[in-house]
Amino acid sequence: MERTREYDIVIVGAGISGLSAARYLLSKDSNLNIVILEATDRVGGRTFTVPLKTETGTDSWDLGAHWVGRSQTHIMKLIEELGIKTHQQYLNGRKFLQVGKDNTVKSYMSDIPTLSLLALLDLDRAMKKIDSLAKEVDQKEPFACKRGKEFDGMTMETYINQTMWMADSKELMEVAIRGVIGAELSEISFLYFLTYVSSAGGLKNLVEATPYTAQEYTLQGGCQQISLRMAEELGDVRIIFREPVTSITQSHDSVAVTSESGNIYKCKKIILAIPPAHIAKIKFDPRLPAVKRELHKRMPLANYGKVVITYKEAFWRKNGCSGEVVTNGGPSFDPDCSCGPLCLVFDDTSANGNPGLVAFVAGAQLVEWRQLEDEARKTSVLKCLAQFFGDQVEEYIDYAEKDWESEPYIAGAPVCVAGPGAMRYYAGGLRDPFRCIHFAGTETATVWTGYMSGAVQAGYRAAIEILLDLRPQTVSGQDLEDNNKPFKHPNT
Ligand SMILES: Cc1cc2nc3c(=O)[nH]c(=O)nc-3n(C[C@H](O)[C@H](O)[C@H](O)COP(=O)(O)OP(=O)(O)OC[C@H]3O[C@@H](n4cnc5c(N)ncnc54)[C@H](O)[C@@H]3O)c2cc1C
Repeated sequence: MERTREYDIVIVGAGISGLSAARYLLSKDSNLNIVILEATDRVGGRTFTVPLKTETGTDSWDLGAHWVGRSQTHIMKLIEELGIKTHQQYLNGRKFLQVGKDNTVKSYMSDIPTLSLLALLDLDRAMKKIDSLAKEVDQKEPFACKRGKEFDGMTMETYINQTMWMADSKELMEVAIRGVIGAELSEISFLYFLTYVSSAGGLKNLVEATPYTAQEYTLQGGCQQISLRMAEELGDVRIIFREPVTSITQSHDSVAVTSESGNIYKCKKIILAIPPAHIAKIKFDPRLPAVKRELHKRMPLANYGKVVITYKEAFWRKNGCSGEVVTNGGPSFDPDCSCGPLCLVFDDTSANGNPGLVAFVAGAQLVEWRQLEDEARKTSVLKCLAQFFGDQVEEYIDYAEKDWESEPYIAGAPVCVAGPGAMRYYAGGLRDPFRCIHFAGTETATVWTGYMSGAVQAGYRAAIEILLDLRPQTVSGQDLEDNNKPFKHPNT
């Protein structure tokens, strides 16, 4: 039976962004009447922590978002407030690199990968150039930067082919970007990539696992706790599960939100804390502005999956290895795949000391791998890992994998990626409110877009927009400044 209920604010999506928006709003006025509508049966969206078997019982591992770092100030502050502790990423020992036509596996000890001197110079020059171009990008108006139109008409692949000259350094760049964004170079607008780099404060922050970068710490107990603890703190705020929003009708000062089950939620303001690709599936009356519709069409979710394998002992550590691998996948381990499935591997031993490895499957490799049967997928992962760590990889305790494309209301990860031509619509299309509708979600962040930190920043920004309309006296200049502030490295 169809029911109508009234609220001050409806939030769509119980991921980190939607929940942090609700938390922020209530911290300013606890009397606000808020409801959160979530399509699935759980909070956390692109974070998902599961129990896996260990030698002595079970422990928690992440199949979604994995790391945080000190340059991600919004999420670091939030986890501190929620009482969640970090766990340093293990990096001691030999690392492996596999690029090049012959798929040779090379090992190295420092932060500098084993490439020829010329390839290293090529890589260093390209990274510096990308950083300097990213500095020219204004997060709010990327298309307006000096070469905005030219860079948006170009894929990341075109840019790399035009500016890098060594095959191995180009391939390493390709593997690193696939591992970070989940897309192939040919699918990414170069201007979008610069915008992404700029929001993270530099390319190294995205691709390295060194202090202050995005791969610095895991969370003790897993990343889904962030949302679980926020949901617990919200107390009386209703989170309605299995309630996908299908249509939104608005007048000048109110909104009616309809769910798949026919329930109607009336409110003064709504926050859409869902990825742009999912906004495109909702029916709006009046329609969203053309610029938003165009952008939403051009920002599909990337292809990203994860495998976590638990072991009795961290045998790779005993053999002097850190567990870190950067690979083009190596040779094919299945007749239906053109190469191995993995692009990145790290030690994933839990804070409780239970050994594990995490491996990422991304981009076109994931598209091939997802078509295999369950056993064939697992076999190709283990064979790919054995190239680096030997046959002991077969002696696992538990194995779990997640291809995020299989989640109907997420349908890909880690982020929606803009293809060439999309950035023309980015400034007006992404985060500008449309009457009573406000837009959150990590894709709309100006600091660490695509990451959990960006999800928090975007949630707070959407909350501030609403407070400025409904409760202007609660918003200070400091609130606005804190929300937009990029991270400043202590050594700069
Ligand atoms: C494998 C993987 C690895 C990652 N690694 C990292 C990492 O190491 N560090 C990091 O910071 N980030 C990482 N990320 C990205 C990070 O998870 C996201 O940036 C962040 O969780 C996004 O939060 P969000 O709230 O913006 O969106 P989401 O988490 O996508 O939440 C949106 C919610 O909206 C719901 N929804 C969608 N449509 C509707 C609808 N019509 N009606 C109602 N509800 C709807 C969804 O079910 C979902 O719960 C990773 C992601 C994945 C999947």
